[in-house]
Amino acid sequence: MADWLEGRVTRNHQWSERLFSLRIEAPLDTFIPGQFIRVALDIDGEEVARPYSLVNTTGEAELEIFFNIVAEGPLTPRLARMQPGDAIKVAPRSFGFLTIDQVPECRHLWMLATGTGVGPFLSILKSEQVWQRFEKIVLGYSVRTADELSYLDLIKQLQADNQSRLAFVPFVTREQIPGSINSRITEAIRDDSFEKLAGISLNSDDSHVMMCGNSAMITEVSGLLEARGMRKHLRREPGHITTEKYH
Ligand SMILES: Cc1cc2nc3c(=O)[nH]c(=O)nc-3n(C[C@H](O)[C@H](O)[C@H](O)COP(=O)(O)OP(=O)(O)OC[C@H]3O[C@@H](n4cnc5c(N)ncnc54)[C@H](O)[C@@H]3O)c2cc1C
Repeated sequence: MADWLEGRVTRNHQWSERLFSLRIEAPLDTFIPGQFIRVALDIDGEEVARPYSLVNTTGEAELEIFFNIVAEGPLTPRLARMQPGDAIKVAPRSFGFLTIDQVPECRHLWMLATGTGVGPFLSILKSEQVWQRFEKIVLGYSVRTADELSYLDLIKQLQADNQSRLAFVPFVTREQIPGSINSRITEAIRDDSFEKLAGISLNSDDSHVMMCGNSAMITEVSGLLEARGMRKHLRREPGHITTEKYH
């Protein structure tokens, strides 16, 4: 891609052994909360570019991305080592349709994330528009171990700011942690434990479901939702499911 913006890392925050957030200063014009950008580094004479969702919302001075190290990947081990002042290329425009302007009118918004897929939902939850549109929002955030649950302070703050209209349901699949569901999102939809903790029902009359992260979760959950009469949202045929697959 031609004409990269010159970005500069301002902060590298390590959440756990393999999870990191980078804050980046770059003159990106604008974006819609929930969208992703592309960033690139020159590695061994080659430009390596990958998409990353923005965690920051519009109006914040710096861009923020949240990622995990993929040991065999070329880019993430390098991103994890970046320090304030390091240069990073940023594409001049944002992309993606995991945004609330794509969601048809409904009362309840469900956001289901695996791992770093929580990032775009935080960007949306930090925006004012989402609180003007939906009566209740559920954030289901699935990780393997409790130390992978990142941004918990921000999530608590969002709950406090929005008078319990945000139901936060953490899923920790490989540990027994009080206050979280200790199974996969799919199992908790099947046995209704997700809806019990969320305090509302997941149905085709009231709900729209956004999903982000691992493609296996997205495919399996989509199947369960279709069995409840929900369908993929298309511009020409409004539905109930919007997704973004990371891998
Ligand atoms: C639209 C879009 C937005 C994305 N946003 C994010 C984001 O915000 N945060 C983020 O962490 N990743 C995100 N990704 C994935 C990201 O672009 C990279 O693929 C990932 O960070 C690994 O980069 P890499 O160069 O190290 O390895 P790659 O060469 O990209 O991947 C190496 C292998 O690892 C797999 N892989 C990719 N991501 C993961 C992962 N998270 N866990 C395990 N295996 C993986 C790939 O499918 C591939 O088989 C996004 C992908 C897409 C398509």
